[in-house]
Amino acid sequence: MLKPGEYVRDLLESEPGRRVTARGWVKTRRDSKGLHFVQLNDGSCFRDLQVVIEAGVVPEADLAAVTTGACVEVDGEIVASPAAGQRVELRGTAVRVLGPADPATYPLQKKGHSFEFLREIAHLRSRSNTFGAVFRVRSALSFAIHRFFQERGFVYVHTPIITASDCEGAGSLFGVTTLDLSNVPRTKDGKVDYSQDFFGKPTYLTVSGQLEGEAFALAFSNIYTFGPTFRAENSNTPRHLAEFWMVEPEMAFCDLADDMKIAEEFLKYVIGYALEHCREDLEFFNQRIEKTVISTLEHVVNSPFEHLTYTEAIRLLENANRTWEFPVHFGADLQSEHERYLTEEKIGRPVIVTDYPKEIKAFYMRDNDDGRTVRAMDVLAPRIGEIIGGSQREERLDVLREKIRAHGLNEASYSWYLDLRRFGSVPHAGFGLGLERLLMYVTGMKNIRDVIPFARTPGSAEF
Ligand code: ATP
Ligand code: MN
Repeated sequence: MLKPGEYVRDLLESEPGRRVTARGWVKTRRDSKGLHFVQLNDGSCFRDLQVVIEAGVVPEADLAAVTTGACVEVDGEIVASPAAGQRVELRGTAVRVLGPADPATYPLQKKGHSFEFLREIAHLRSRSNTFGAVFRVRSALSFAIHRFFQERGFVYVHTPIITASDCEGAGSLFGVTTLDLSNVPRTKDGKVDYSQDFFGKPTYLTVSGQLEGEAFALAFSNIYTFGPTFRAENSNTPRHLAEFWMVEPEMAFCDLADDMKIAEEFLKYVIGYALEHCREDLEFFNQRIEKTVISTLEHVVNSPFEHLTYTEAIRLLENANRTWEFPVHFGADLQSEHERYLTEEKIGRPVIVTDYPKEIKAFYMRDNDDGRTVRAMDVLAPRIGEIIGGSQREERLDVLREKIRAHGLNEASYSWYLDLRRFGSVPHAGFGLGLERLLMYVTGMKNIRDVIPFARTPGSAEF
């Protein structure tokens, strides 16, 4: 196991004269003028360690299997590097190939591969520059998310993945069952007899931990969840996954204004963390993936988010003088084209849209006094549109029961949720951030399949 001080990252920081053993996978190897050059990477940082071996120092037989993709161990001495772009390199004195990789069949060659091709070898793509950078940033952002909430006294709660409640009251759920699908038990009236199923009733993979998160917020005041979330929406878009990771804070004693404030502070914090701690990786994205990524992130961290009500947003869209694929009028849901117009063209930075019509938002959002809108807020960001969706929750028992009815939901299945309004209810609010949407924003990667290790999308669940 590599210990701190032994990673390539550490070797690159060490002083000439240090004797070390480097371990990692060979990115490339070339031989010229009596020297063997091996680029070695262990995933700890973007840069490779250059290993230089003088001809004759190491037996030819030991070098034969040092080819792209092989896992190797090299003993040697850190020396000042004569080459540009690196301070030090490793002068190798012994090489052991721990795991060879047949050059004739190793699929990850030096030539640039398309992201589509790399998705097919997702078990190997993490060894490439791009995906090494993506998944290091993913790890750093995840840590920053925990740190943000932990520093503010939030309790981390693990909400269930298998659930009996459909949070949104919408479709798009994956069922969870152990029933024999080729011989489904039926009730007398021909319906599926879920009483014979594992849990004795229909269950699903969760679309959100929010409802259970609310129960914990009404005990711990400030909580957050951070875990996998599932949506069976058959939308083959570059920004939807069937399995993704969601961060959902929930705060008691909190109204919509506080909710927006903490959402903005949160985004700025985690983006600032990436700018500070993932500089090398971000510079790569800036050069190779999206030329404006760093300047955009710096701009986001340093400028206040814009605020718009839904009604104002609709007016801006109506006055935009263009034909929308999805027509705009009060009551229409904002589509990606609308979100991007507002945040990219009209405003040029993140914008928080609030007070949506109640018909297009979930039952649990708090009614405004106008009778038409609810205290919802979506944070829209340039390039990707909606990155956060949140709201103040309806804390009044009678109003919430009426809203459950109006949304055509069954009150009985929300009895525990209504209990939270019966016993010690308080204004509370929260939001959900899709980790992969955030990663797309931070890295500039254009397809959400390329920021999750092994993507699950309609028709595709490899690995
Ligand atoms: P969209 O309109 O983009 O489908 P949504 O309104 O369904 O999003 P919410 O239910 O508010 O989204 O979910 C909260 C957050 O989770 C979103 O802001 C987004 O960041 C993320 N998210 C939602 N659906 C997906 C998905 N299928 N894949 C990846 N991230 C998602
Ligand atoms: Mn959706």
